Amino acid sequence: MEYRPTIGLEIHAELKTRTKMFCDSKNDPDETRPNVNVCPVCMGHPGTLPVINKEAVRHVVRVGVAVDGKIADFTEFDRKNYFYPDIPKGYQISQYKYPLVKGGKLAGIPLTRVHLEEDTAKSFHKDTYSLIDFNRAGVPLMELVTEPAIKSAEEASRFAKELQLLLQYLGASDANMEKGEMRVEANVSIVPQAKNFREFLRAFIFRDPSRAGTKYGGRLGVKVEVKNLNSFRAVERAIAYEIGRQKKLLEKGEPVAQETRGWDENKQETFSQRTKEESHDYRYFPDPDLPKLRLSELPEFSHEALRQDLPELPRERRARYRADFGIQDKDAEILVTNRTLGEYFENTAQELGRDQRKIKLAFNYLVSDVIGLMRWDDDHPITDIGKIRMSTHHFAELIKMTAANEITSRTAKDLLVLMVSDGGDPREIARERGLFQKSDEAELEGTVKKIIAENAAVADDYKKGNEKVLQFFVGQGMRATKGAANPAVLAKLFKRFLS
Ligand SMILES: [Zn+2]
Repeated sequence: MEYRPTIGLEIHAELKTRTKMFCDSKNDPDETRPNVNVCPVCMGHPGTLPVINKEAVRHVVRVGVAVDGKIADFTEFDRKNYFYPDIPKGYQISQYKYPLVKGGKLAGIPLTRVHLEEDTAKSFHKDTYSLIDFNRAGVPLMELVTEPAIKSAEEASRFAKELQLLLQYLGASDANMEKGEMRVEANVSIVPQAKNFREFLRAFIFRDPSRAGTKYGGRLGVKVEVKNLNSFRAVERAIAYEIGRQKKLLEKGEPVAQETRGWDENKQETFSQRTKEESHDYRYFPDPDLPKLRLSELPEFSHEALRQDLPELPRERRARYRADFGIQDKDAEILVTNRTLGEYFENTAQELGRDQRKIKLAFNYLVSDVIGLMRWDDDHPITDIGKIRMSTHHFAELIKMTAANEITSRTAKDLLVLMVSDGGDPREIARERGLFQKSDEAELEGTVKKIIAENAAVADDYKKGNEKVLQFFVGQGMRATKGAANPAVLAKLFKRFLS
């Protein structure tokens, strides 16, 4: 029996704001001292009143515009009630019925909603006691929920990467997964897929054991939520593992339990944490301490104003690279994800006067040679191209020299090494070191004659009809001129003097 996986993601991202979601305690993800960015509001003291952080609302609404979602006219905050030491109020302020954003699409995946809530404190469990750090309590947290429309582990990880990129482009979050600034949860279910009508009957009407885990007449599988996914690799592996685990259960005729599972990075497997709460367990209700928001009445939150204010988005940048420079999405990805590299490339392209052939050449040198040089030291790679000495102006000059055949591609690569480490004008360096390509026949004639004289036996070979040795002579010519000779001119001269 084949199985069709259905995956939905819930992704939390800590937003970049000056202060926390409902108080003026500092929002500083880099703070290492515990419990310094706290106040009575985010510590949940009785009698305190929360105030909505406009900057956080703005971030979420901008994300909504970027994914073409529907921005709420009316929105409110709700209390999600549960008891846990990391939430001292006894409830988390979140959004339930009226999220800030509904719908939208990202990387081809339809979205359900994007809403705003507050982060919880961080607990540290020791042997006999637990510690709590409230620095993170009340930090604005965006939650994005996709439709269950993702069909594979790879697609899920691709989606999460695209969201991270978008948040970074928008300046909404650094979304660093290692730091916990972006956290992914996956809802995974599988449904038996009948290959033919006979199999369909067996599975769905005659209660085939493999149907046991399916809930509603085989249309929907049982949803398992997988948590603690702190890297893209974990997202991909945990989902793949979970699909495999559910398949095995169904094939044994055992039911899949609806539950929350964690991901064990060491064992590379998911483990049962608890049975899943239903949303009614949380007794959501509108927070009476916070005003309702009518965003449509605020001009600065109008769709037009927000759209005009958006920076170029990752998908727009890919489209522009394709249209302007003829670079395909797959190749352009390194320039889209590494933005300083992208800017460096664009400044170079500007210097090259939008000449597609030269720009393509610059792109190739940049992504293979220059990046290779930046990574010469595995332990300390240079990640920011702003740190190398070669200016875009001089890089463009080198490309022009190569395109005009003034220097050979081998010389260009040698020059790149010098320029990346020490900077400098390639034209000057080439002049000083005599690196310009030698295409002048009169200038090369002496070298050619000398090589023929020194290799009389090989020359005879050629004269007897072995044309393959011509390559040997051209190689010798290149060596004698330290790669500066034009190989085509050399070949022509050797042919002339050998016949
Ligand atoms: Zn506070």
